[in-house]
Amino acid sequence: MDETEKRRNAETQKRKGGCDSPVPRFSDSSPVPLLSDSRPVKIGLFGGTFNPIHFGHLRSAEEVREAFALDRIYFVPAAQPPHKGGSDLAPAAHRLRMVELAVADNPSFSASSVELERPGTSYSVDTIRHFLAVFQPASLLFIVGIDAFRELATWRDYATIPRLCDLLVTSRPGLPTPSPTQLLPVALKTLFWYDPATNVYRHTSGHSLSLHEIAGLDIAASTVRGKVREGKSIRYLVPASVEAYITHHALYQLERVSR
Ligand code: ATP
Repeated sequence: MDETEKRRNAETQKRKGGCDSPVPRFSDSSPVPLLSDSRPVKIGLFGGTFNPIHFGHLRSAEEVREAFALDRIYFVPAAQPPHKGGSDLAPAAHRLRMVELAVADNPSFSASSVELERPGTSYSVDTIRHFLAVFQPASLLFIVGIDAFRELATWRDYATIPRLCDLLVTSRPGLPTPSPTQLLPVALKTLFWYDPATNVYRHTSGHSLSLHEIAGLDIAASTVRGKVREGKSIRYLVPASVEAYITHHALYQLERVSR
């Protein structure tokens, strides 16, 4: 292959969103400026495996953005999720790229590559610290679905998280939503006090923890992967760009994906 051909191939790959091209980095280091009224920006952090990202994630984030007047939500794919592995976990660079494609048309949504840039297991507490360091004086809201929240006590330094930022637990279609008073797992009960007037839990740091019920969409990434494996359509479960990416890179077609 001569040089011109190599260059042409590389450009085609890049246009197709190929992973051979360098993973485009979202610049976490470009600070979001203070708004004109000089209130700190309100940033949501939405972590997940995003294997792959689907409309359930996007719809939930959109409802939260609107309800809490967030200036921006960062979707943070876990490079090496501590709780989810398995043979059908697509490589992190692919999952990040799919998140980038999925959020590309929403100016309030961004993909963050921060967990891919850190070696080792991805821990949310490190990611929150990163965002606090880069975006001070932003107000951070850590968004977590009810299923993930139930496991919070198994997360590294979980007790530190409410010291760093506010937490928002979102309901998940298809799963029962607890009443606000039944929200906290036993391990977290001593960290918060409940304010019945506002339905908000308060931490001694002043940060809040609350439950937000979304209408949402009952979609799970495991359903999307299952459909791909069975050769079924995933149209309208994921954005068209994500569907095309999965097809192009033949993701999730086998139990073992190691491209
Ligand atoms: P899997 O089916 O592989 O377990 P998932 O669909 O649960 O994946 P994750 O990437 O593990 O997706 O989820 C990231 C976050 O998004 C979690 O906090 C989870 O609760 C939330 N979430 C996932 N799907 C939905 C949905 N349909 N609606 C609202 N929240 C969701």
